[in-house]
Amino acid sequence: MIVSEEIENKEIAKQYKELLRISYQTLTNKDKKLIRSAFDTAVHAHRNQRRKSGEPYILHPISVAKIVAQEIGLDATSIAAALLHDVIEDTEYNIEDLEKLFGTGVAKIVEGLTKISKLSKENNTSLQAENFRKLLLTLNDDVRVIIIKIADRLHNMQTLGSMPEHKQVKIASETLYIYAPLSHRIGLYSIKTELEDLSFKYTEPSNYESIKNKIEDSKIDQQEYIKSFSEIVEFALAEEGLEYQIKGRGKSIFSINRKMITQNIAFENVFDKFAVRIIYKATHRDEKFLAWKIYSIVTDHFTPNPTRLRDWITSPKTNGYEALHITVMGPDNKWVEVQIRSERMNEIAEKGYAAHHKYKQGTQKDIGIDSWLDKLQEVLENNTENPVDFVENFKLNLYAKEIFVFTPTGDIKSLPKGATALDFAFSIHTEVGMKTRGARVNGKLVPLSKTLKSGEHVEVITSENIKPTANWLDFVQTSRAKSKIKSSLNEEKKRIAEDGRESLRRKLKQLKIALNDKSIAQMLRYFNLNTSLDLFYRIGLGTINNKQLKDFSNDFNSTFFNFFKKRIRKQNQEYKKDEKEQITQRYDTLVFGKENESLKHALASCCNAIPGDPVFGFITINEGVKVHKKDCPNALSLQSNFAYRIIKAKWVDSSSDEFTAILKLSGIDNMGIVSEVTQSISNNMSVNINKLSFDSEDGIFTGLISVSVKNKTILNRLVNNLLKLKGVDKVLRE
Ligand code: MN
Repeated sequence: MIVSEEIENKEIAKQYKELLRISYQTLTNKDKKLIRSAFDTAVHAHRNQRRKSGEPYILHPISVAKIVAQEIGLDATSIAAALLHDVIEDTEYNIEDLEKLFGTGVAKIVEGLTKISKLSKENNTSLQAENFRKLLLTLNDDVRVIIIKIADRLHNMQTLGSMPEHKQVKIASETLYIYAPLSHRIGLYSIKTELEDLSFKYTEPSNYESIKNKIEDSKIDQQEYIKSFSEIVEFALAEEGLEYQIKGRGKSIFSINRKMITQNIAFENVFDKFAVRIIYKATHRDEKFLAWKIYSIVTDHFTPNPTRLRDWITSPKTNGYEALHITVMGPDNKWVEVQIRSERMNEIAEKGYAAHHKYKQGTQKDIGIDSWLDKLQEVLENNTENPVDFVENFKLNLYAKEIFVFTPTGDIKSLPKGATALDFAFSIHTEVGMKTRGARVNGKLVPLSKTLKSGEHVEVITSENIKPTANWLDFVQTSRAKSKIKSSLNEEKKRIAEDGRESLRRKLKQLKIALNDKSIAQMLRYFNLNTSLDLFYRIGLGTINNKQLKDFSNDFNSTFFNFFKKRIRKQNQEYKKDEKEQITQRYDTLVFGKENESLKHALASCCNAIPGDPVFGFITINEGVKVHKKDCPNALSLQSNFAYRIIKAKWVDSSSDEFTAILKLSGIDNMGIVSEVTQSISNNMSVNINKLSFDSEDGIFTGLISVSVKNKTILNRLVNNLLKLKGVDKVLRE
């Protein structure tokens, strides 16, 4: 494709001007300067690049910036960051350059975007895609990163046609799985709808076409219908002096398809293919009052279905949506949804919180774009809302307590918040943890106690000469690292104590004292120690030296030692919690969807969900709902390819029914491991072994155990007990 440079440059200049013109926020001169210089930098950085379609690369960042500026309505910092979003990833510029040129605000956002984009390139396996999604949610230091990423994805979806076909499907599935739900959560409804429809076009082209054509065909009928609706209410509305517009709002292709599938109905039978939207002018004061006035007029003429009234004006959705929805029996005796919104509410619905900002400006309670972003952050972190995609719902809270870091090979590890470099080392492998000498985070040498943050690259430096020391316990967070360090310290202590015992025997012999229970008891008292192990250990370490032993022997030999004086020992034994078997009997029934309905269902055989497991339902064509664990190996592909067939599911109530769980063990082979494992399982009341097999190769064993348990609590306890066994390194649920 040969286009003269001049024409291209003209096009670039034109696009740039349009970007400034369409910005939803009013731009100050300072804003314009910032955007201009971001634009110049981006043009220069991408000067030699072209997109798959052949056009100059810079047109992509400009388009993304336009979405950010107009459709989402973000500030100048975000527009600049959008222009620069691919600069670090693809060109010779680095983060320091951007910091110097644009300050830390813009640079930080671009850095976040770069991380995400690097990450998605590395994501080939489904496991990583799942982690990617988690990471995306933890990376929201600045929520603008996620918003600009959504804009980036929207433009990529809009231009997906020039990608090879296999990539189209992959990108489209990822969009349905990750970006559409995120957009929804943030309140970017129109973008969410556009993303869904664009994705659907590539994942199911023929269904997409067929529904699209049917919608086209029914357009005229729809317009007629809205006209007859308007005619009935317009007189009454006018009489009240209301200024309003009545519009038809078509359901998206994607959501019509979802309805057809979940309700198993034909296109013609989807009754709410479109809604009537009444948008009215109002002042801040009478806005709510007018909404109910319109409601009253509409229901005077059409019978409402009282179960379908939604008042999001009195209590707006957490993502900011406000409106009054009611379904009425409209003309031709057809149910139709009526959405009543003021102009302000309408703008919020289209643009999300950016519109809030605009409307709050000028009043004394100016919330400002920053508080909008803060609010969004909250929305992302706390989810009291009930968005369509339950996956989001479930996982966001979980993620707040996790961080995600990279191994040198680009794998992602999840660790609890507060985990240190040493925890990371132990999470790689016990052997790695035991020999950790140091760590590098993002290339820099750091102490082992360094607290890790999401997105950091961590590399462990090991040495054969390293042994765990007691102070390691001060800063590891994970119980895995703690228990491994403790047991290593204990072994070490035992070894030293054994040497100490022999050395003590020799030394006492010279002092004419025999090493026996009596002398040991007196030494314990003399040195104020609790156990013989403590004594031998100190001798081994040399903290009880020859001089002190000599002093003891003087005492011992010379005096009427008051052997019988009982010493009141401090009861400083650690309080051990009485770990009672807790048989939780709260889960025995599965319920589905928002309404917690019970549906015909079966447990999917791929993951053997048991009561209490986090699960989701997958609507099959012939077999009702199949229930999978949320971490089922098939979950990702189901969710990304058939997001619309996923239904929320959860366990309620109680049961004593037994369920099967399969545990996979691995670790270092030692004699007797099999009997220790079986012993440990049979010590757990309420667990039965169904099947057990062990394999051993090169000193590493793997075992598969199928057990019957009553509930998740018992299973968790069993797993924990197995992990305590010496040699057992990993216990996973199949
Ligand atoms: Mn991009």
